[in-house]
Amino acid sequence: MRTIGMLGGMSWESTAEYYRLANELVRERLGGVHSARIVLDSLDFADVEVLQADGRWDEAGRLLADRARAVVAAGADVVVLCTNTMHLVIEDVERAAGVPVLHIADAAAARIRSAGLDRVGLLGTAFTMEQDFYRDRMAGHGLEVLVPEADDRALVHRVIYEELVRGVVSESSRAEYRAVIERLAERGARGVVLGCTEIELLVGDADSPVPVFPTTRIHVEAAVDLALADG
Ligand code: GLU
Repeated sequence: MRTIGMLGGMSWESTAEYYRLANELVRERLGGVHSARIVLDSLDFADVEVLQADGRWDEAGRLLADRARAVVAAGADVVVLCTNTMHLVIEDVERAAGVPVLHIADAAAARIRSAGLDRVGLLGTAFTMEQDFYRDRMAGHGLEVLVPEADDRALVHRVIYEELVRGVVSESSRAEYRAVIERLAERGARGVVLGCTEIELLVGDADSPVPVFPTTRIHVEAAVDLALADG
């Protein structure tokens, strides 16, 4: 079994899911008391959040590159960045790691394509919804990506930073997310990417008229596939 290097803490609310899901999947696949080989480096999200808010992406890239080197030095054979947003600096992480870094949008896009869909809505932080890095990556897989209108984007972003990364899961925000998803579906989205690793703590298939693609779960499944692959 290969060792999965997780760069987490962004936020730890979803990193806890990465850890739990990876272990559950390995137990399901290998049976007995098997569990995943994991090296986890968990950042202080307060440090990351300030770099994001100030647009200091070069510094963020250097910080994550440094942490990637640390997990590889500790034995990681493959690296996952446990956040969608910070894929903005994945090239820095890839250069530093020197081992495969599994892009979360590639994993999600593969799942969407295998479901036979080509037009999806995207929920995430403002960085993920409004900058090019994520939508372009999905477009590279032949996917058309719709993002919510401006007011809805502001709402989705606010709930992530003011609630979900702080461990707050509220019924009123769930209702608001449902309405945002409904509007994306009305505009033609055939599926919805939960493109922030905390969003699946709030909504799931039951909250959507179209299939949802939970990026934490999908990313972990791709990492475990690689960890357990032959050869
Ligand atoms: N975990 C979130 C994501 O997947 C948001 C927190 C962050 O900005 O890293 O984008």
